[in-house]
Amino acid sequence: MKIGINLPPVTRTETATKWLSEFADAGYQAVEFDADMFPLITGGKLERRWLPVLKNLLADYSFTYTMHIGYGIDLRSDDDFDTHKNTLFSSIEAAAESGCVLLNLHYEKKSSSSQIEERFLNAHIEAADFAAKMGITLAIENIEVEYADPVIEFVKKVNRKNFVLNYDTGHGFLASSFIGFDYLDSIRKSAPLLGHLHISDNTGIFEPLRITNRSVYDSLPMGYRIALGRGDIHIPPLWGRIPYEEIFKILNNYDGIVLCEFNAELYRPFLKQIRQDIESLIIKTRSQK
Ligand SMILES: [Zn+2]
Repeated sequence: MKIGINLPPVTRTETATKWLSEFADAGYQAVEFDADMFPLITGGKLERRWLPVLKNLLADYSFTYTMHIGYGIDLRSDDDFDTHKNTLFSSIEAAAESGCVLLNLHYEKKSSSSQIEERFLNAHIEAADFAAKMGITLAIENIEVEYADPVIEFVKKVNRKNFVLNYDTGHGFLASSFIGFDYLDSIRKSAPLLGHLHISDNTGIFEPLRITNRSVYDSLPMGYRIALGRGDIHIPPLWGRIPYEEIFKILNNYDGIVLCEFNAELYRPFLKQIRQDIESLIIKTRSQK
């Protein structure tokens, strides 16, 4: 098992290098970055000129790299579906060619249209087969406005070895308190399909603006949201109310990447401590097996 961390949004290669060096010093072994960190894709098409730049940037460190698909890519979109789909395929190519092992996707929310859901499923099956040829695993992540069950069912329906579940513990915790389901039970059900794991923390308080007015939600200052403990605040694991000891007892056979998805910029003085605390907790729960 490797402990990883996500790269904060950067727009300059020098800034990315600075963070990678800090993550190496703090003892992380894996790094996830957003596909839209640099303009790698234009109009759904891969901008190949970026590939050597990205590859060189990442090759300076010995991390295992994973990529997170750009925000806003929506394979349920009726507005220019083809470009959304092309962006997914270009992201797979970018991940493979830059040296990543996995591309992380968002499930978002199941729609009420069977036609949209069928197209969503078929696009992911096609994407998984394309990714397999490139040696890339696709992971799909639960979000905070949806039950975990539809995501679990979806991974089973795609039914490809390189298509796995990414359980985001922060999203699951918020969804369980907002929609009302058994949090640890959802982790138990997810465990057999788990191939990637995002961990962050929060207070379990769902911010209703997330569904009533997404643009206002996105514009709320993070400092305000953290102070009031509202919504998906991505504070470091073990800094909020998520029961990580219970979680790691359930996930005692998981051997993928444990990706700490907190805001490294905000919690910079604690990078090493956060990694050590999670590592110690995992070692502790495994020794109790
Ligand atoms: Zn996540």
